[in-house]
Order: sequence, then C-alpha cells, then structure tokens
Amino acid sequence: MNITEVRVKLLENQPDKLRGFASITIENFLVIRDLKIIEGANGLFIAMPSRKLCDRCPACAGKNHLRARFCNDCGRRLQSGRGPHDERGRMRLYADIAHPIHQRARDFMEAEVLSSFRNELKRSQEEGYVAVSFDDMDYESYERATTSAHNSQR
Ligand SMILES: [Zn+2]
Repeated sequence: MNITEVRVKLLENQPDKLRGFASITIENFLVIRDLKIIEGANGLFIAMPSRKLCDRCPACAGKNHLRARFCNDCGRRLQSGRGPHDERGRMRLYADIAHPIHQRARDFMEAEVLSSFRNELKRSQEEGYVAVSFDDMDYESYERATTSAHNSQR
C-alpha cells in the first residue's frame, strides 16, 4: 500500500495534547481525513478518525453521548459508566471510523503521517509559510475552541 499524499494542519498553542490534523490519500484512490496527531507521554502518535458513541435514553429513547449525565431530550438523569468498556476497564467513548487492521499497517501509516508532520513543522518556521489548505474543513474552529483529544486508541 502506498500513501500518495499526506496533508497536515498544524495546531499551535493548544491547551491539550492535540498537535494537528492530517488527511492521507491511499494509492491516489481513497482519502481518509481527520486523523489526529497527538503528543502522548511516549511521544507523538496518530489517532484514527472516530465518532462519539451514543446510547438511547431508557425513558424516551433519545440519543445521548455516553458521557452525558442527563438526557438531551427529556432531562432524565442517566446512569453513569454505562456503555462498553475496554480491556483496561475504561469506558469506550469513541469508535474508529477507519482504522488499520494490523500493527504493520498502523506503524507504516503513523511513520508517514509523523514524518509529514515534522516537515510541516519545519516549514512553518520558514519565512512566508503558507499552511496547506483543506478545502472545506473548518479547522479554524478547533483552534479557537478547547478541543479534547482523546487517547482511547492507546
Ligand atoms: Zn430521555
């Protein structure tokens, strides 16, 4: 498998561990967006695009994020700690939308993305740097808002 393009959006001055976003193109054929570049305790790693897991309120069947304490629709108090847990007993709050199926693929993707990230970082320190454009992506709102990078992948 060849990754034919990597685009990196750097995030600076983040209050959390999120250092950027990336999109990758596989074989000039498929684009995967919204990979996160996160600074963990053991260095940088990538998190795959993911969605928040939800469940339904027992009273009204309204959909709520697993971390919600009250139902968005009827206001009923919801049980805490509900939903699936990982092998370490922590709540699983996110599910990957796309992910590598074995370690070799993960390592390869991670190396490609992190190498592009470091190049972009270097480029960003040069004069006249223009950030890569991400057509329709509204990453600017991420830079203003306090984002929560989740580390459920590691
Ligand atoms: Zn409800």
